[in-house]
Order: sequence, then structure tokens, then C-alpha cells
Amino acid sequence: MKINQKGWTIDNVRQEMDFYLADKPELKELMNLYASILAIEAEYLPLIDTKMEIEEVNEIERKIAEGANVLNPTKIVIEPAQFKEVLTKMATVVAAQNPALKPGLDRLISYPDLDVDTEGVPPVFLDALLKFNTQYFTKIAELIELDTDIMFFLTYHAMNPFIESVARQYRGLYDDSAWGKTTCPVCGRKPSHMYKRREDGETALECQICRTQWTYPADTCVVCGNADPETYKFLYDEADPAHAVYVCDGCKKYIKSTDAQALDRDIDVEVEDLATLVLDYVAKEQGYEPGGRVTFAVSLDYPEDIPEDDGEEPVEFSLE
Ligand SMILES: [Zn+2]
Ligand SMILES: [Zn+2]
Repeated sequence: MKINQKGWTIDNVRQEMDFYLADKPELKELMNLYASILAIEAEYLPLIDTKMEIEEVNEIERKIAEGANVLNPTKIVIEPAQFKEVLTKMATVVAAQNPALKPGLDRLISYPDLDVDTEGVPPVFLDALLKFNTQYFTKIAELIELDTDIMFFLTYHAMNPFIESVARQYRGLYDDSAWGKTTCPVCGRKPSHMYKRREDGETALECQICRTQWTYPADTCVVCGNADPETYKFLYDEADPAHAVYVCDGCKKYIKSTDAQALDRDIDVEVEDLATLVLDYVAKEQGYEPGGRVTFAVSLDYPEDIPEDDGEEPVEFSLE
């Protein structure tokens, strides 16, 4: 089956945020920050030209059948000035909400690796980004004295629209039912979130970088492929059965999940990630690490007044 994936919109993001904020007003600041970042992504998505030619459908189908993702991100051409513009806008949003971060963010957006050098060599920063060279960004964060989580949050969000603008062109061109892998069929990166689709109840994953969605067996760990119900389980709060966190004792990783059918909503994965922060704390407390992206709010313990401990233990179920 070919997934007929709708593109996300900033209006839907805001609508979904309002839905959760009615019950979780403590998330307002964080959700506003994300809304501003996503609004910048939405603004640039239609403007980006990565000069990337999409392959023939036959070639795409051949790669998928062989289990190879279809896009090599290092072939994407990111226009340096445009990337810097996106990064600067995002850094400005973060600095406005967290003035203490401004000096580090100023050093980031004036960092020389962001520019084409005098001999015309493309920016080292972009090369590292497209190769997902995390060591490089950890090193730069140290050099400019910027929190590593903020560094990753900003650089990856600034890159997302460039990758997604290409990935969108691949959507609907291949049948993903035989894919079943733990990585994105388009860009090869990890998923950020799992969910049960509203329209047909199928379990699917969404890529943390290009937002491509693909179907995936719900009873299998998204990190190591473990499908033993004794060691791959999910936890949820009885008061909120539409949200769960799947934890694996094989690899000690977790991924969060939303049942969009039970909610009967057009969910947005970014919003779901924020609305379920309490599940990150639950999983971490029990010794599991994030299997996909780390929401930067979690590593910063932000906002400070969540989660509220109501003294009730989350319920544990096996997957039988
Ligand atoms: Zn992807
Ligand atoms: Zn696992």
C-alpha cells in the first residue's frame, strides 16, 4: 500500500497545541516556542530549492524492495545564505524566550563554518549537518559555550525543511508495506514517534528529520527489532489510554506512541511529543533511554513544574 501522506500545516499544529493546552497550561511557554520554530519551517518549506532530482519510480521501487532508503541526504544542496537565514530566525526566537542563551546563540549564528570560505568551499557546517556528524556539533557547542541540546535542537530544526522539501516529492511514489524497517524509507534516519493512524488503525512511524511516515509492526521494538512480549512492553496512565510509551528490555530504549484513532484527531507528531513529556520522565525513571530524538525540553528539565506526581504508578501491560 502506498501511504498517501498529507503535509503538515502550521494551522493544524496550533489547533493541536490548543487542544492539549486546555488541560496542560504549564506547557504553554514550551508549545509557543515550538510553534514559532515550526512556523519558520512552514514559511521556508515552499521557498526551498535543493536542486535535487528525484529518481525514476522504477529505481525508487527497486531500492525499497532491496531495503535501501531512497534518498542520500549528502546529495542535497543547501543554499548557505538561506540556511543561515533560517538558523538566525530560529535562534532569535529561542533567545527572545531565554535571554541567558543569547550570547551563545550569537556566537552560533556568526560562526565562520556557516559561510562559504574565501576559496568557495561550501560551508563545513552544512557538510557536517547532512552527514549527521554529531561529534562535530558537540565540539562546536563546547567551543562557543552553547548548551549541546540547544545546539542540536536548532541545527536539526533549521535543516528539517531542506530535507523535507525533497522527501515530500518521494511521497506516494513507492509501496512501503514490505519495508517494515526501523529507519525512514526516504532519508534513512530514525523515527521520532509511533502512532495508530486515524484513517485505518495501522501502526506507523514518522521520521524525525524528513517527517515521512511509514507502516510498522506495533509489536516490534523500533530500535532493536525485539518482538518478545515479555521484554517489549508499553506503559500508560489509565487516565490517558491514547498515549503510551513502549519500552524494550532488549536494548533499554523507548519510543512514545499516540492512538490517533482513539483520539479521533489529525494529530501532529511534534505536538504529540510535547504533550507526552510525562511519558519521557516515566520511561527514564525506569532506566530506559530515548530510542529516537530527544526532546530538548526533557534534557533541560523544562518546564520546571512538570510532571506533577499524583502518586499513582503508571499501569504496565504486555503486548499479547
Ligand atoms: Zn526521513
Ligand atoms: Zn529494543
